[in-house]
Amino acid sequence: MTMLIEARALTKHFRIGKNKTVHAVDDVSLHVDKQEILGLVGESGSGKSTFGKTLVGLHEKTSGEVLYKGEKLPSKYRPKDFQKFASSIQMIFQDPYSSLNPRMTVGEIIGEGLRLHSQLGSEQIRESVASWLIKVGLLPDHMSRYPHEFSGGQRQRIGIARALIMEPEFVVCDEPISALDVSVQAQVVNLLDELKSSLGLTLLFIAHDLSMVRYVSDRMAVMYLGTLVEIGASDEVFFDPKHPYTSLLIASNPEPDPESERSRASTTMTGEIPSAVNVKPGCRFAGRCPKVMRICKTESPILKELRKGSIQRLVACHLY
Ligand code: SF4
Repeated sequence: MTMLIEARALTKHFRIGKNKTVHAVDDVSLHVDKQEILGLVGESGSGKSTFGKTLVGLHEKTSGEVLYKGEKLPSKYRPKDFQKFASSIQMIFQDPYSSLNPRMTVGEIIGEGLRLHSQLGSEQIRESVASWLIKVGLLPDHMSRYPHEFSGGQRQRIGIARALIMEPEFVVCDEPISALDVSVQAQVVNLLDELKSSLGLTLLFIAHDLSMVRYVSDRMAVMYLGTLVEIGASDEVFFDPKHPYTSLLIASNPEPDPESERSRASTTMTGEIPSAVNVKPGCRFAGRCPKVMRICKTESPILKELRKGSIQRLVACHLY
């Protein structure tokens, strides 16, 4: 396996007011191998989207570093950096409604990256847009229409075409299915999976639906309140979670069968993710953890290796 992108102790804090700091991402180290899909899960407020945006330079990092093919990426992209990395690294955003400019036609939206960052002429860009519309299951005729003329699932396909027309190697998919109807979610996930195989893409797939992430990803990483708490092969993490937060997150995932949904009600997560402002020492999950011990309130657990080998299993919990 060749590592494509690596975060080393990546940290992103936001200052609010004079004395308050939001610890959105704290000291997160992980990597994504070439042609791998790494799923990143956690509740809302866990820091997963901020991590994705900081990883690709859309947020300026507070500390740590990001290496892309072994080369350090800048803290925040300047115009010349966009020129250099725009065709290699792309992002598919969560909300297909707000991420598409309503005043631009679909052809202009999908072709914009090529107009800005390639030497292609307008006819070549048009041909490329038409072929990408077909690849994502739309029609070349849709080029002259506006985003409001499409359904949510079709708009997400337009967002996918806009990112992939640049022929990136690495794509961060930031909750690409959460704004869509359940019936459309599987279609979009299958499309990404197909494109990953045919184009040899590497993806960071951020989502909160764990069963969907297990289906699509090779490895799964779990974040809680800005920190990485568990990472390993997707099936191992899903069927044999080690961190108490991962166990509760999986138990809280909606079950299609109402009978099993009722029977597991007592095992699901209680309370809400606390504020990431001026976090206290100790395990960040201590206030909600059913297995909390005295040490958890004073010492922050570090990631420990439970399984060596090509697919490592790492867990940050004092139980191990
Ligand atoms: Fe629970 Fe302690 Fe493990 Fe944190 S370190 S998850 S509080 S057992």
